Amino acid sequence: MSSRSTGTATKARRAQLAENLRATRADIAAACEAAGRDPSGVELVVVSKTHPAADVCALAELGVRGFGENRDQEAAAKAAEVAASGTEVRWHFVGRLQRNKCRSVVSYASMVESVDRSSLVTALDAEARSQRDSPLDVLMQLSVDSDTARGGVAEADDEALAAQILACQGLRLRGVMAVAPLGWEPGRAFEAVARRAAKIQALAPNANIVSAGMSADYAEAISFGATEIRLGSKLLGRRDDLRYAFETK
Ligand SMILES: *Cc1c(COP(=O)(O)O)cnc(C)c1O
Repeated sequence: MSSRSTGTATKARRAQLAENLRATRADIAAACEAAGRDPSGVELVVVSKTHPAADVCALAELGVRGFGENRDQEAAAKAAEVAASGTEVRWHFVGRLQRNKCRSVVSYASMVESVDRSSLVTALDAEARSQRDSPLDVLMQLSVDSDTARGGVAEADDEALAAQILACQGLRLRGVMAVAPLGWEPGRAFEAVARRAAKIQALAPNANIVSAGMSADYAEAISFGATEIRLGSKLLGRRDDLRYAFETK
């Protein structure tokens, strides 16, 4: 997490976030218009990694509900801080997830977007059934280039993983998530995501979420049907923390 102090965002920071949000909503609307889509069909999730809880609270006050995090340790602390301030948000876990972190992640996340292998499905299902009254919403993270070392399920395993999730009482399969691989033309990546999402939706009618698109490529993602975009730097500014320098794309 950044070294900025906890507490409330300064007046200047809140004004900056309000302006960034206004500009972002206008840009999303323009991308939707260009794609012939209704902006109400695209949910904005603000990826708050490296940024303080105070920024989350300020954006929540401006109407943002969904926030994304990719590291459990940082997310758990931030979620506790936001909850303690009385602010209600929905946390989307979007990072690589180890089985031993499932207990913690299930305790604060409304959705886990990075489900990409059988052992993780088993562990998440067990935690969700023990901690929750209702199933946990999950997305299957698709590996666009099938280089699964960087996270995501390879296309050959899409149907089997979807079937496994559908058989879990603790999980509700809501759709897919993907990150365009480095060096790929984003349109080509998101076209592949849309094609695989449609196949999965044929097995699971409630799996209609396509989480695709980040600050650099959200417009292309919208043009290929994304229903959720995950924006970090466009709203919150650049991340100075070097731990994050190599993993956003
Ligand atoms: C960091 C991150 C984002 C947001 O990236 P930006 O380029 O800052 O918009 C989106 N999705 C995932 C999975 C991330 O890790």
